[in-house]
Amino acid sequence: MKPSSWQTPLLDWALGRQQPTRRHVLLVLATLQLYAVTIGILMHTVHLGLLDRHMANVLILCAVTTFLTVFALVRSGWSLKLTDPVLAFPHALVCNCIGVLAFMQLGDHRSNVMIIMGQTIVAAMFRLRPARVLLLGALTVGMLAVATITLTWHDPVHYPVTKSWAVLAVGGSALLMLSLVAKWISDIGVKLGRQTKELTEAVRTVQQMATTDMLTGLLNRRVVTDLAEAELKLMERTGAPMCVALIDLDHFKDINDRFGHHAGDTALRGFAQSIAPQLRQVDKLARWGGEEFLLMLPQLNQNEALTALERLRQTVEALVFKDHALMQLTFSVGIAQAQPGESLEQLVDRADQAVYEAKRQGRNRCVLASSLVASAEPLTEAPA
Ligand code: GH3
Ligand code: MG
Ligand code: MG
Repeated sequence: MKPSSWQTPLLDWALGRQQPTRRHVLLVLATLQLYAVTIGILMHTVHLGLLDRHMANVLILCAVTTFLTVFALVRSGWSLKLTDPVLAFPHALVCNCIGVLAFMQLGDHRSNVMIIMGQTIVAAMFRLRPARVLLLGALTVGMLAVATITLTWHDPVHYPVTKSWAVLAVGGSALLMLSLVAKWISDIGVKLGRQTKELTEAVRTVQQMATTDMLTGLLNRRVVTDLAEAELKLMERTGAPMCVALIDLDHFKDINDRFGHHAGDTALRGFAQSIAPQLRQVDKLARWGGEEFLLMLPQLNQNEALTALERLRQTVEALVFKDHALMQLTFSVGIAQAQPGESLEQLVDRADQAVYEAKRQGRNRCVLASSLVASAEPLTEAPA
């Protein structure tokens, strides 16, 4: 449910605006349920006459102070610099310290406190690392052992040694067992978290492999085909012009033969890196296959596309390869402006024929497809 206009600033004030602080504050607020249950039990204990009212007030004050301190540290963002930004470990430990105080006040009913301590451990296990959960359980039982020694030492009449240690043995072992189970669950959580991360990474890699060309980092043929088809449909609706340019590197076989296949790969990457920064955001450059590239130029007519490609041609022609000073790269390009009702295949076919013409005329040049087809619907011709 969306908060109303007056709730939003109130929520922002209480939870903070920034993630992850907001998420951490919500996790701290979730512990309020356990506080509410514990305070309710304490008040009921006072009502039954099992606990002194003053002592109950002290315990409630300790609990409220603990909660407010943790809330303030997390809400202020101070805890963000810690590895445990929700303060789950110190929070649970202090709560169980307060539990030990209650344990020392409740006489024969003290074992009930250990159930609430167990709940604290369970609540903390989702936020703690497995070893920390076990440490929390061990420290809790350790504090209970110290409390038991203190009680039997100072008041052996009300706290006979054998009975007191039996209480601790039953409750303490249950707490340790619970911590162990909590640790296993926390272990599973960590493992699931790691697997989710690996899976997300794998999906990202597969996505990248499916959409980009590994060698040049450009889009691949499938993606640019989808994009160009969508652009053609848009063009049909809006009437905006659109061009495709089919770029074929010149004498690339010779480059491979002369400088080696590795140098050829470097040339392909160099070509992509020199061209990509010069394109507009709407332009899409893709590796069409081998040493051929397709450049999609939305919102440009063939004359504007010709000007753009001429600039790119000069850039590539001027490229210098650090490790192969004699290697010179040029390309021949065929440019076709989409005509109404034309499919992408027909459009690319016309650009391809213009590439052949560019090769025929001696390479390292740009040719408009419209210049080849005399009978075609006349498009705006390139300036002489
Ligand atoms: P033209 O000017 O007529 O286009 O001549 P060309 O030599 O460029 O054309 P051709 O089709 O004869 O040869 C293309 C060459 O491109 C052959 C192929 O080995 C090379 N090539 C294709 N893909 C790669 C690649 O990924 N890396 C390298 N190094 N070479 C490649
Ligand atoms: Mg070719
Ligand atoms: Mg070629």
